Amino acid sequence: MESTTVGKVITCKAAVAWGPGEPLVMEEILVDPPQKMEVRIKVLFTSVCHTDLSAWKGENEAQRAYPRIFGHEASGIVESVGEGVTGLKEGDHVIPIFHGECGECEYCKCERTNMCRDYGVNPMKKAMIADGKCRFWTKEKREPIFHFLNTSTFSEFTVIESACVVKVDPDFPLNKMTMLSCGVTTGVGAAWNTAGVKAGSTVAIFGLGSVGLAVAAGARAKGASKIIGVDINPGKYVKAQALGVTDCINPKELETASHEEIKRLTGGGGVDYSFECTGNLAVLREAFLSTHLGWGLTVLLGVHPGPKTLPLHPMELFNGQQITGSVFGGFKGRTQIAGLAEECMRGAVNLDEFISHELPFEKINEAFQLLQGGESLRCLMQL
Ligand code: NAD
Ligand code: ZN
Ligand code: ZN
Repeated sequence: MESTTVGKVITCKAAVAWGPGEPLVMEEILVDPPQKMEVRIKVLFTSVCHTDLSAWKGENEAQRAYPRIFGHEASGIVESVGEGVTGLKEGDHVIPIFHGECGECEYCKCERTNMCRDYGVNPMKKAMIADGKCRFWTKEKREPIFHFLNTSTFSEFTVIESACVVKVDPDFPLNKMTMLSCGVTTGVGAAWNTAGVKAGSTVAIFGLGSVGLAVAAGARAKGASKIIGVDINPGKYVKAQALGVTDCINPKELETASHEEIKRLTGGGGVDYSFECTGNLAVLREAFLSTHLGWGLTVLLGVHPGPKTLPLHPMELFNGQQITGSVFGGFKGRTQIAGLAEECMRGAVNLDEFISHELPFEKINEAFQLLQGGESLRCLMQL
């Protein structure tokens, strides 16, 4: 059936950010049709990730740009596609990915990385690559509204480059698929792809939000023998245990540093793998110190704003412990996420556990407060 909106500007509701930390304003905006290699999506579900929270607060001043539409964790249906788009058509069920895969560049062709030259995560990018322009406009003055993380999902309709759109099985419920758009994929992939957690591995996770708990779920699925969770918010421990964390530590209640406690819990040696999921440099150091000499690996997942460098003395890397980063869990989005979705639907990871709250889209500012207050994992909003 021919859609009546194809090729036309759509007027719809979006949650627009006008300044750092200012409540998002639910307003009518204009959304242009998709241009070459772009896809216009009717967003059906979206949720708030800590990266949205940090960007909204303007934690990294260099990245500030307003007005802007945040949001990168979502799912929806293709409304129309632009010239040259293959493999996606009107009506397809899709999830946007902030870390795209063009399939053509030297990184996409390399098996050892999930980077993409043009469509990888880039917090400075605020317009489309095809013509350097925005596809969102304010309704009254027709001023441009900037894009965010390749996706901008806090809008009933969004335009995304096709490298950042993944098709999923239409039989899979889109509310659950939303979780794979960022947080769960990132955490599970960090355990599976970046670290390569195996049966019997010991793991420490710093920060038990969605990303950290997805690491836990991923590590449990691979048979990790001990999964130690570290968080200053004890309200996180019940859900953590449900997702596979075996021991919870509150650094605020310890008399020693958390890495000392982790060594004690692992018979003195430390864990095989540690994951930093807070975006805090002091925590990153604790994560590094909590791994076993000789082979310990620390995976950095948290986003660290500002011009700070690693909290390590170079000689500390002579003890055999390694440190690396993981973006989107090392997954190549367009080629691997459909498979991850199948594994999750078969039970490898229970996606429902991550949906701690649900609210209508109009209450998006409440969803931000829930995450900021440490109350929610993911608050799912239906548009
Ligand atoms: P979240 O807010 O849900 O969880 C963060 C958790 O860290 C909270 O439970 C909080 O209590 C805990 N925490 C904060 N400070 C702490 C401290 N000093 N010690 C111990 N625990 C502490 O956030 P999230 O959505 O799970 O995201 C986690 C981080 O991962 C953020 O920095 C986010 O920007 C980043 N992120 C990275 C990627 C990636 O691809 N690398 C993807 C998504 C999110
Ligand atoms: Zn995210
Ligand atoms: Zn590429």
